Amino acid sequence: MGLAAYNIEADSKEQFRYMIHDEVDKWVDQIIDEVFEDDRHPTVMELSELFAKTKQKFFGACFQALIEQKYAGLLEQEYAPCPKCAKMCKKRRGNLKEMVTMQGPSVLKRPWFYCVDCSYGFSPLDKVLEISRKKHQFDIQKKATKTTAEVPFSCSSELFADLTGHPLSDHFMHDTFERVGAHASLEDVTPSKDEIAKRCREATGDSWRPVLVVAADGAHVPTRAKAKRNEKRGAGRWQEAKGFRIYLLSQDRIIHLASWHQIQNEEQFGKDLAVVASRIPQHQVRIGLLGDGAEWLWKHMTYCFPKGRQVLDYYHCVEHIHKVATVQYGEKSQQALEWVESTVSRLFFAEVSSVIGGLRRMKPKDSESEEEIRKLIVYLDNNRDRIHYQGDRIGGYPIGSGEIESANKFICHTRLKRSGAWWVKETGNEMLRIRCAVYNGTYDKVFERYKNANLPHD
Ligand SMILES: [Zn+2]
Repeated sequence: MGLAAYNIEADSKEQFRYMIHDEVDKWVDQIIDEVFEDDRHPTVMELSELFAKTKQKFFGACFQALIEQKYAGLLEQEYAPCPKCAKMCKKRRGNLKEMVTMQGPSVLKRPWFYCVDCSYGFSPLDKVLEISRKKHQFDIQKKATKTTAEVPFSCSSELFADLTGHPLSDHFMHDTFERVGAHASLEDVTPSKDEIAKRCREATGDSWRPVLVVAADGAHVPTRAKAKRNEKRGAGRWQEAKGFRIYLLSQDRIIHLASWHQIQNEEQFGKDLAVVASRIPQHQVRIGLLGDGAEWLWKHMTYCFPKGRQVLDYYHCVEHIHKVATVQYGEKSQQALEWVESTVSRLFFAEVSSVIGGLRRMKPKDSESEEEIRKLIVYLDNNRDRIHYQGDRIGGYPIGSGEIESANKFICHTRLKRSGAWWVKETGNEMLRIRCAVYNGTYDKVFERYKNANLPHD
């Protein structure tokens, strides 16, 4: 660094210091006025609220001063080359950029250029600072979107304002959410091959190969078609969100790997599962496939994980048994409980044929009971090779996704069902993708992708 450059830098630092001192003085004046009046005895809560109220303006001004000193050169720029044709353009009239960050509001008076040949406006400072075209900057957009993924749209802006002191409009929350969601792809939402390999190694013991569990399921989500302009909203219908969760069972804990859910058809589900399967070091783990009776799901799971041990979800299976007990013996009757217990324990020891035989000999109470018994026989027969719970237990395989389900129960579906709203399919899928990203620990990457696609143009 030359001496001249060094002096400018040192100068900037000193100037910044003076500017901040100035802002501190302004802030202290405000506090003094409010707090040191003779008859006032503010409480902790009142003082905290006073800080919350005044700090945004203070920090916003500091923020602005910092940019003005750090990027003084760019702020004084008179000429800049057009990014498209390289023609030198002269600065236009000072252009104000109002922006809000998590620190508060700032206004930047920065040069702005316009190339007549290309009909193209640009600001080099915006590019260097990665300033969002939106007034609320990327740091706010990132947190706002995460908030929206957790709570219904109708209360997310209020909650955000409550916790951060930044009022955001419902429109901003919704719009930003959709834009980020549009950039959330399966490739980014799923952890990378390296990350997955790392977690597999962590779960591996000296003489223990971890079990990698693939649990797939479908759940119905209320959807409606997107209404066209001037048109009443479309009729609602339930569509299936299909998804899977992949996790590792190490000796003492569950390590989550990836979760992915979308309102989509079975074919697309298969393609998505294949993408994730290709990132997994399948030879380094033992694989357990968990599902209920749905055939589409087994078709894709066994295709993607040919060496996987198929396990019919125990809890799901028990539900079916309960159903028959209830219609045949009456809800919670002694007889029903006894029958369920003995049936379940025979299934635990893989005595499927004996259970089916017993069902065939049963005398149905009525036609409903007859139908439920018939369905259960078909169900058990179709899944016969997937019922071996005792062996699963001994091998360390899961017998149901219940253990992870409690923390994870329809991670994705909860938010979609809670609001009671009917979802436009696209928005519902954006919600699912972002929630999965948050859960998979890949939200930073997803947001980065969105940010890079929305930077000021080169
Ligand atoms: Zn140009």
